[in-house]
Amino acid sequence: MALANGTSTIELDRAGPAPRALVDPFLRTISYVRVSVTDRCDFRCVYCMSEHMSFLPKADVLSLEELDRLCSAFVAKGVTKLRLTGGEPLVRRGIMTLVASLSRHLKTGALEELTLTTNGSQLDKYAAELKGHGVERINVSLDTLDPDKFRAITRWGDLGKVMTGIDAAQAAGLKIKINAVALKGVNEDEIARLMEWAHGRGMDLTVIEVMPLGDIEESRLDQYLPLSLVRSRLAERFTLDDIDYQTGGPARYVRVKETGGRLGFITPMTHNFCESCNRVRITCTGTLYMCLGQNDAADLRSPLRASESDGLIHAAIDEAISRKPKGHDFVIDRRRQQPALSRHMSVTGG
Ligand code: SAM
Ligand code: SF4
Repeated sequence: MALANGTSTIELDRAGPAPRALVDPFLRTISYVRVSVTDRCDFRCVYCMSEHMSFLPKADVLSLEELDRLCSAFVAKGVTKLRLTGGEPLVRRGIMTLVASLSRHLKTGALEELTLTTNGSQLDKYAAELKGHGVERINVSLDTLDPDKFRAITRWGDLGKVMTGIDAAQAAGLKIKINAVALKGVNEDEIARLMEWAHGRGMDLTVIEVMPLGDIEESRLDQYLPLSLVRSRLAERFTLDDIDYQTGGPARYVRVKETGGRLGFITPMTHNFCESCNRVRITCTGTLYMCLGQNDAADLRSPLRASESDGLIHAAIDEAISRKPKGHDFVIDRRRQQPALSRHMSVTGG
C-alpha cells in the first residue's frame, strides 16, 4: 500500500462498489471515529490506569498499515473526522507515518479533520510535523498546573515537559483545547486557575467528569466530583453564558465573560448526551466499540486480515453499526464499588 502519498492501485482495487453511509438504528449518522493507536502510555494517571498495568502483546496490536486501512474504510463510508488517541498516541513508534498517510484523505476533501488527544509529553518533538500534515487542532489533557500535583496524578509525569510541548504546539500554529478531569479533593480548588490560564493563552478548557472505566486500585467515589458543583462554584466568581458552540463532541459550552474564553462541560454521569452521538471507537487491536459505555463490540481485525479487498470490513462495519445502542448507563456503584465496565479508558481512548 502507498503510505503517505496518494491513493494506491491496491486501494482502488479494494474499494469495490461505493459503500453505504453509516446510519444507526436511531437514525444517527456516524461521522466521527476515535482510534486508539496504542494501549501504552508514558504516564499512569490515577483515574485512568492502575500503577502496574499489563499491556497487550505487540502481536495483537494492528500494524500502522492495518490502522491506516481500517481508518480509510471508515472514511470511504462517509466518516469525516478522525481522532487518534490511546494510551498515548505519540508514544506509538512510527506514529507520524500513520498521520502522514491519513493526511491524504484531508487532501482529497474526504476527511474534514484529522486530530489527536495527547498528554503533551511528546509534543515538543512532533508539533511542527503534525501541523505540516494538516492537523489543525489538538486536545491536550492537563488536570493541574502544580508540578507536584501533576506528578501525583500522572504517577511520574513531568509538568515542565508538557508545558514545553504546549509552547511548541502553539508556536507551530496548532489550536489547543485543554481537557481536565475534575477530581474531588485533588484539583477542585484549581479549576478557576486552570481556566484563567488556558483562556489567557487563547485555549478553550473542557472539564470532564470522571467515568467508571476499568479497575484502578482506588475508589471512584473518592474521585467523583459532579460538574454541576464545579459550575455553580465558578458561577460565584464568573459570568457563564450558555452558547451554542459545537465541536462535534458531547461538551456543552459557556462563554466566560471575564476571560472572553470558552469553557466546556462533559457530564456523562449527570447528563446523558447519547441522543446526538455521532461517533464510534476502535481499539488498537481492531475492536470496534459502538458505545463508550457498553460492552458490545465487533471484531474488525479478522475481516481486515482475512482478505486483501475491503468488502469484508465494510460488511462488518455495517453490521456493527446496526447494533449501536441508544445510550450508556454509567453508574458509580455505591454498594459494590466496582467499575461499570472492566475495560480502561486507555483501551477505548476516551
Ligand atoms: N493519553 C492521552 C491523553 O491523556 O490525552 C489520550 C488518551 S486518554 C485515555 C483520553 C482522555 O481520557 C484524557 O483526557 C483523560 O483525562 C481521559 N480519561 C481517562 N480516564 C478517564 C476516566 N476514568 N474518566 C474520565 N476521563 C478519563
Ligand atoms: Fe496515559 Fe492519557 Fe491515561 Fe493519563 S489519561 S494514563 S496520559 S492514557
